Amino acid sequence: MTTDVESTSVPAPAPSGGPSRQRIFSGIQPSGIVHLGNDLGAIRNYVALQEQFEAIYCIVDYHALTSLHDADALRRQTREMAASLLALGLDPERCTLFVQSHRPEHTELAWLLCTVTPVSWLERTPTYKEKKAQQPDDVNHGLLTYPVLQASDIVIYKATTVPVGKDQAAHLELTREIVRAFNHRYGETFQEPQAVYTETPTVLGTDGVRKMSKSLGNTIEILAEPEVIRKQVMSMVTDTQRILRTDPGRPEVCNVCQLHRWFGPDYVEIWDGERTARTGCVDTKKLLAERISSHYAPARQRYLELMAHPAEIDGILEAGADRLRPKAEATMAEVREKMGLR
Ligand code: ATP
Ligand code: MG
Repeated sequence: MTTDVESTSVPAPAPSGGPSRQRIFSGIQPSGIVHLGNDLGAIRNYVALQEQFEAIYCIVDYHALTSLHDADALRRQTREMAASLLALGLDPERCTLFVQSHRPEHTELAWLLCTVTPVSWLERTPTYKEKKAQQPDDVNHGLLTYPVLQASDIVIYKATTVPVGKDQAAHLELTREIVRAFNHRYGETFQEPQAVYTETPTVLGTDGVRKMSKSLGNTIEILAEPEVIRKQVMSMVTDTQRILRTDPGRPEVCNVCQLHRWFGPDYVEIWDGERTARTGCVDTKKLLAERISSHYAPARQRYLELMAHPAEIDGILEAGADRLRPKAEATMAEVREKMGLR
């Protein structure tokens, strides 16, 4: 059993063709439109890891229900998220993509895990505190129990590796604690999963302060039309101490400059232009918007093609959930037996 809390490097896979390829699991909420933080922080790892690992990726609609209460929007956004992930490079031949609620065993296991999880662990979770502040009129029980359902998502498939953004570090640690608590009470059953981060574990939002997040509305929607991307990038907060066009900029603290790192090796010259005030924030933003649009143009094209064939998307998601049924059922049988339910 590993004791590492987190890792930025990918663990070595089992020899190819071997029976015990390590299993990877990650989830993404259909709470809005896929954004740059999702891709740089997590999805590009999803794509890379599906080549070597047994990868399971989930659109977590049960989780989204903690904030999204419009049935039509949830259905639509679930499909849009699936199309986005496929467009960005998930390949149903190489990974399993499915919708959380299509495997309802996740919720049964979540209930069982709740019984080994002290409430105090959940109350201290940073994301719970953030969500309480974000939606003070809707502090539903799901927000508190969210990390238990997330633990269930991961361990039901006995996944050992979890590619996520850094904002998920506390949740992952909680999963590990829940696993320890379960194993302690009922005997060795689950392995503690390990997080894997990309080189950009946290991407700041257009406000330049908070992490980019679907529910905060500070996103750059990478598969949107170029005009939308341009507007979002032009709204970005840059170095707040750079008031006049002639003031030198500080690329280290400017989110626009930071994002340029991922869209061309010449970011060093772009930074230099800012430092010497040879270029202004507006120039640097325009360039960033163009680069993001052109980088994601092929994915946007694939996204539009997929959205024109919704039955194809639904078929992929159904096949994914069917493929996982034996694994989910096997874990549930084992857990029920250990807990005295059968
Ligand atoms: P919500 O606001 O509804 O929580 P989100 O934008 O945070 O949505 P999630 O669906 O919660 O997106 O997260 C999907 C994946 O993207 C997770 O692995 C998460 O860690 C990662 N991620 C989300 N935002 C960022 C970010 N700003 N930087 C890096 N990774 C991120
Ligand atoms: Mg989130």
